[in-house]
Amino acid sequence: AWLRVRDKLKSEVGEVEYRTWLRQIVLGPIEEDEIVLYLPTRFLRDWVRSQYGERLQTLWRTENDVVQRVELQVKRGLTPSAPTPEEATEFTEEIPATPAAPEIRSDLAVPLDPRFSFDSFVVGKPNEFAYACARRVAEKPSSPGFNPLFLYGGVGLGKTHLMHAIGSELTKTGNVSVAYMSAEKFMYRFIAAIRSQSTMEFKEQLRSVDVLMIDDLQFLIGKDNTQEEFFHTFNALVDAGRQIVVSADKSPSDLSGLEDRLRTRLGCGMVADIHATTFELRISILEAKAKASGTVVPAKVLEYLAHKITTNVRELEGALNRLVAHADLVGRPVTLDTTQDVLKDMLKAHDRRVTIEEIQRKVAEHWNIRLTDMSSARRARAVARPRQVAMFLAKQLTSRSLPEIGRKFGNRDHTTVMHAVSRVAELMEQDPSFAEDVELMRRMLEG
Ligand code: ADP
Ligand code: MG
Repeated sequence: AWLRVRDKLKSEVGEVEYRTWLRQIVLGPIEEDEIVLYLPTRFLRDWVRSQYGERLQTLWRTENDVVQRVELQVKRGLTPSAPTPEEATEFTEEIPATPAAPEIRSDLAVPLDPRFSFDSFVVGKPNEFAYACARRVAEKPSSPGFNPLFLYGGVGLGKTHLMHAIGSELTKTGNVSVAYMSAEKFMYRFIAAIRSQSTMEFKEQLRSVDVLMIDDLQFLIGKDNTQEEFFHTFNALVDAGRQIVVSADKSPSDLSGLEDRLRTRLGCGMVADIHATTFELRISILEAKAKASGTVVPAKVLEYLAHKITTNVRELEGALNRLVAHADLVGRPVTLDTTQDVLKDMLKAHDRRVTIEEIQRKVAEHWNIRLTDMSSARRARAVARPRQVAMFLAKQLTSRSLPEIGRKFGNRDHTTVMHAVSRVAELMEQDPSFAEDVELMRRMLEG
């Protein structure tokens, strides 16, 4: 099965990606619902996890539906010829434990990732409220008004990060028992308990924790029995004064498909929305991660990434990691050119056909003028110059003709557009910093 999964992935990602990142994966043991894959270094492990983790999991599941989770581990000195699972089991003992991962109730919960701490979480407008709530729960679990804590927001915006941070913080201070798991894991455990007729034990275990955190609750939509079980656990814990933290991709009221009474209870404590990132927050996150990587990444490159990858912090992080890895490998600094080259395939997914409206919007934003001034008659240079740049870019990046472009800019004549194009080209030659600005705009728009 592994060979089939591997080949499938190889055909999906292509030979180069495969050789760079995936060839070194070695099959490890299979335990119940979990399959272990080994990688020779921590860096590779993290990389493969962030870039291919989910895909690997899905492919495995289609191959073999007993496998619910793919676990990636570091094991040094591997040869990339896959041993049989039996062979692999022999050296499981030697795997170094992940350092400092608090493993309270390892029988029940998933270990917390020490990298997901409050310190490594970059706070900005979109997430400050959720962050403050998480901090509060970590300081004083089960405070009235904060139980349950319900965190919600889109993919890759930091829900899991905050939950791990709460868990780590609580276990740091001592005798609080924390159980963290995904809703999917919860369901699997529940089903396994039913199968092995140990539901009582399962319930007791769950109900003995001080803090229960369930990630990605939307997974329980349509899983009525598991929802029912969760509901009872939830009530038992809250009634006993224990803290519950839950995350989902939508607010309780929007999670249609969850039982009404469960939704109602979920909304009873604190509900905190993590909003989509802003450009400023993305820059701050990139700056923090670049600093942590120890590699110098120019501000222009960070700006470029923050403009191109807007929806998901995980992807933003992945792009930066790739740049840093590349710079390390070839021993050359990161530049805007290498960035575009190294991330070509990754950024393709973010490409759309550029429209004139988009060009106008981005240019207006960049030079801080009103969008309406793109078609206004104002001729002050502060307005006219960006307008000319937008025309120039429209000519370069779209297949529109000069008259068509002119029409979009307040019905200007095609000669005006022609003049703008040659004027901008001229200025770019005279003024390198202006040229760099226009160039950056072009790259951001075009990809
Ligand atoms: P979610 O669970 O909401 O899908 P995650 O918590 O898994 O998102 O976040 C995805 C990745 O982005 C993680 O590596 C996380 O550390 C990182 N991340 C998200 N938001 C932030 C932030 N504000 N500061 C630092 N890292 C962040
Ligand atoms: Mg998550």
